[in-house]
Amino acid sequence: MQSGKSLFNYPFSHIYVEDSVRDMELTRSILARFSKSVVIPINHYKDVFNRSRQSFGLQKSSQALILAKNTGESIFPGAPVCQDFGYDHFYYASSIRNCIFDCEYCFLKGMYGSGNIVVFVNLEDTFAELEALLAKHPVYLCVSYDTDLIALESLTGFTARWAEFTKNHEDLTIEIRTKSFRKDIYDRIEPCDRVIFAYTISPDEIIEKHEKRTAALTERLEAAAYAMKKGFPVRLCFDPVIYCENWKDSYLSMFDQVQKHIDTHQLKDVSIGSFRIPADYIKKLRKDFPDSPICQFPYENRNGVFQYSAALQAEMEDTLVTKLQSLVPKEKIYRIDVDE
Ligand code: SF4
Repeated sequence: MQSGKSLFNYPFSHIYVEDSVRDMELTRSILARFSKSVVIPINHYKDVFNRSRQSFGLQKSSQALILAKNTGESIFPGAPVCQDFGYDHFYYASSIRNCIFDCEYCFLKGMYGSGNIVVFVNLEDTFAELEALLAKHPVYLCVSYDTDLIALESLTGFTARWAEFTKNHEDLTIEIRTKSFRKDIYDRIEPCDRVIFAYTISPDEIIEKHEKRTAALTERLEAAAYAMKKGFPVRLCFDPVIYCENWKDSYLSMFDQVQKHIDTHQLKDVSIGSFRIPADYIKKLRKDFPDSPICQFPYENRNGVFQYSAALQAEMEDTLVTKLQSLVPKEKIYRIDVDE
């Protein structure tokens, strides 16, 4: 290696393209943006994404992009460890797998063997699948569940397409969760009370140490405030709450920032939940990330979900809920309880 030359490729320096999507419009527009990337034709995305013995951590450092067609299901029932906000029919959609951000605790590291990103370019097939579900009952759908959709908006345009689709389907409510600073999306789409933008809010100390490449707290709050100003329903998610030595000071000073930037009475709602992760995911994370304080923390395994001890969890959440109750009406605070 030449001195000064990076060990890693730039992001998306390699793009794998399934033969079945080579001529699709979105494939062509993505490839046009990355005209210097090496394009590798493949038969099926699983040949690359599901290969054994991949290094999630290394791949995260220089992610490859995989453009593929989802030929199976792309809408799934919401996981019990996730907040359903009181909706009866809670699902998530998987149109992109993996994320450009790199949170130390991300469950995707336990879920997938690869750190590369798969974009299913046939979003219209997901819409058709959803229309069949909507014919049976209303749907509450998290569309930014196994990715951060807004962070990839300039690549895919999926956020705008989901917003448009939702506006035209009155029994559908979607949540788009993000840790991005981007505000431009709010200038390009029409507000709809069933298209909820949800910002994960963490103290700066947690963001700097454990949520690599994500927006700073102030940037997230400014983006959330901008969305509210433009008429979009905004949710703040204090989830996951992460333990650190001075968690109380960190989280309480985070609320000072929230109050500074956000008219909290205008929020749609807020959620609060301590870090939790299914047992089979944490097993993989612990093996792959031996130096991670979050992965190696001595959690309790309660009903197959690794969580802080009930006492620590209650202490952290009660402290935050007490503070939150001074900012938003009680009925707008959703607290997750996976032990129920
Ligand atoms: S933003 Fe969410 S999906 Fe992306 S790395 Fe962080 S936890 Fe994972």
